Parts: sequence; structure tokens; C-alpha cells
Amino acid sequence: MDFTQFSLDPRINAAIKSVNYTTPTPIQQQAIPQILAGHDVLGLAQTGTGKTAAFLLPILQQLTKGPLRQVRALILAPTRELAEQIYQSSIDLGRNTKIRSVAIYGGVGKKAQVDALQRGVEIVIACPGRLLDLLGEGHMDLSHLEVLVLDEADRMCDMGFLPDIRRILKHLPVRRQTLFFSATMPEDIRKLADSILRDPVTVQIGIIAPAKTVSHALFPVPDGLKKQLLMNMLSQLSAGRILIFTRTKHRARGLARDLAKHNYRVAALQGNMSQNQREKSINGFRDGKYDILIATDIAARGIDVAEISHVINFDMPDTVDAYTHRIGRTGRAHQEGEAFTFAVADDYDMVSKIEKTLGTPVERRRLPDFDYGGFVPESQFPQRRGNQSRPLPAHPRQKRKTTQAHPQARPQRRKQFSSSN
Ligand code: AMP
Repeated sequence: MDFTQFSLDPRINAAIKSVNYTTPTPIQQQAIPQILAGHDVLGLAQTGTGKTAAFLLPILQQLTKGPLRQVRALILAPTRELAEQIYQSSIDLGRNTKIRSVAIYGGVGKKAQVDALQRGVEIVIACPGRLLDLLGEGHMDLSHLEVLVLDEADRMCDMGFLPDIRRILKHLPVRRQTLFFSATMPEDIRKLADSILRDPVTVQIGIIAPAKTVSHALFPVPDGLKKQLLMNMLSQLSAGRILIFTRTKHRARGLARDLAKHNYRVAALQGNMSQNQREKSINGFRDGKYDILIATDIAARGIDVAEISHVINFDMPDTVDAYTHRIGRTGRAHQEGEAFTFAVADDYDMVSKIEKTLGTPVERRRLPDFDYGGFVPESQFPQRRGNQSRPLPAHPRQKRKTTQAHPQARPQRRKQFSSSN
């Protein structure tokens, strides 16, 4: 099956080719025909499933017909990073058409955004706060809107955007197509979906369960040894892009500093940074200037970096949803990925919740050649039935080369613990 089945405009098909998508992902298979047919869609899909193209392609198709230079599609996203990512995809996939888009978010000046609106755009991709500002100042007319997309609706509600969304809805025509994407469907999201969707078609892809291309494992460790465990783990991993999650901004910053001292090419991504600094971190990670990005959950929303080989949860996430979101950053678009979670005694309840929700035990592992100082990982977190604990195989260790003389050189890491070992 390929994209020609959707009978999209040849200019759009050419763009799909140029971004090297050959086969539609399952959400694209399911959602694109429904959206093209004009249905409202409730998409239960997490990041990494290809949901952005699933809504952008039919929107672009629709916009190739009809008037230009008026806002006909609005895509709401919780973070500027996600808005930027969607914007970039709209440029890539719409490159052969005359369709224009703009990304609207706070933390940067308004002028460029207002100028783009004044020149005329068909697609607005926006975070709710700045969108309301610009609407209030009269820079935007949404009365011709044909399609509304709410992306990562659950995250928008988590971030307190629900009242803003309701306010935005008042500016939109009632007759429109609405596409609603969320990885989870708690009660408040269900209510919101019910109130704004008309007779929707539901498409559901792998909700909750991590992508099959991700293998994930738990590394029980005493709290005080986390940093050493991380250092040791990094020295044992083969080169690749590693995304590390911490619970707080402060820890993300501190850990990045520590790793930089050990000559890792590392950047932090956390909420206290300016938009400019964040972009530097994300772009540096994407372009290979940094091998490691240390992020908090909120800051990491929407980073679209392909080929993340490993996600390491230095701190246990607060919710099962955050766990699946985090580990979904690796193993994207059919690539293999590994996600490792450090678990301290206090994390016991969270581990149980994750296993209950996933319906399967998470494998316990121990890092070979690491001095746990008398701590016995298996006793702290006994392996649940259904998955055998297996120690990591011992490998000859190679010292990481430092990179001071050649800042662009990657530290040498050896891969020691793949799930197939
Ligand atoms: P998303 O879930 O929209 O964040 O997409 C996840 C990643 O998959 C992005 O890097 C997309 O560029 C990529 N992607 C989306 N659709 C396809 C496809 N049909 N084939 C290959 N990669 C894709």
C-alpha cells in the first residue's frame, strides 16, 4: 500500500516522495480517507505514529481548492516545539503548492507572526495563549475557518489550556470539520471531545502501549547511585542520540553540566530557557552537535528528532501517560529504540501502575560491571511473572575517549545491552 491510494493532488504526492515516506503508517491509513471524506475524527494516537501527516495531508488537499490567503485551517498545539514541528511538516508537505502557513506561539516577538498573517496564510498552527492575544488585537479573522485540529489535546488540558480552548472556539464558525487527537482519553478530554465533535469517526492506534519497536527496561538503583549509574551506562552505550528525562528543570540543568564536564556533547532543554536557547538545544541535538539532550517532560513535548536511539528516564515519570510519551520518543517511524528507566525505592507504586496499565511486566535489568555497593536490584524490584529478569551480559569495557581536542568528535560508547542480548 502506498500514498497513491488516497488520490491526493500530484503536487502533494511529489512532496510525500521528497520526504521519503513510502508507506502510510496505520493512523494515516485509517484517518486520511475519513478526513478527506469530510468527517470529524477522534484520533487516539500517541506521538511517533505519524499523526501529523495524517491530518496535514488531507488538509493540504482540501486547501489546494478554494480561496487563498484567508485562514482556512487552524491547528492548536500545546507547546511551541510541537507547533514548530507541525509548521515544518506543513512546509515540507505543502512545498509544491501555494499554501502558506504560520506558527504562532509566545516567548518570541509578535511582529514576524503578525506580518505573516497580514501577508495572508491558509494554515495557522498555534499555541492557545498567543493565538488569543493576536485574536484580541484583531490580527486574525477566523470566520472562514474550515478545519480545526486539536493536537495532543490531553497535554493541552494538563497544561491548563482548557479555558483558552473554549475561548478560541467562540471565534470559530460552528460549521467546520474538527479533528481531535489525543494519546489518552481521561474524563475531561472525553467531555471536551463530545462537546466539539459532530458524529466523529474514531481512529485508534496503539493507545498506551509503547511502539513495538521500543524495548524498555527498568534499572533498580539506590537514589544516591543514580548519577554514577548514568555515567557508567553512557560509557557502555554505542554512539547514538540519547534523550534523558529528569523530573525538574534544576536537575536537567545540573545533570547537563555534570555530563559536559565529562566531555559529553550534551545540552539541556527545560522551561527556564529562552526560546532561542531551546531552539539551539533542539537543533544541536537534531543536527548531531549534541549526542545527549537532557529534558523535562513539558519542554520535551513535540521535539521531533528522528533516530533517538535511547531514552533514559533518570527520574521516574509522574504518570503512566508521561512514561508512554517519553519512551515513545525513541523507536519512531519503525526504527528500533531502547528506553531505560531508573527506579528507586519510592518509585515502586509508579512501576506497579505502569505495569498494570501496559498489562505486562517491565523487564528488570542490572548494568554489568557496575558497583551497586551491596544493593541487590532484584530484591528491591522483584521481577513480575511473565518476564524473566536477565542480567546484562558482561562486555569488555572501553574507556570513553575525551573530546576536548575535537569538540565535534563523538565520545566512543560501546553498546552493551540491547534487548536481543
Ligand atoms: P508524528 O507522530 O507525526 O510526530 O511522526 C513521527 C515521525 O514519523 C516523524 O519524524 C515523521 O516525519 C515520520 N513519519 C510520518 N509519516 C511517515 C511515513 N508514512 N513513513 C515514514 N515516516 C513517517
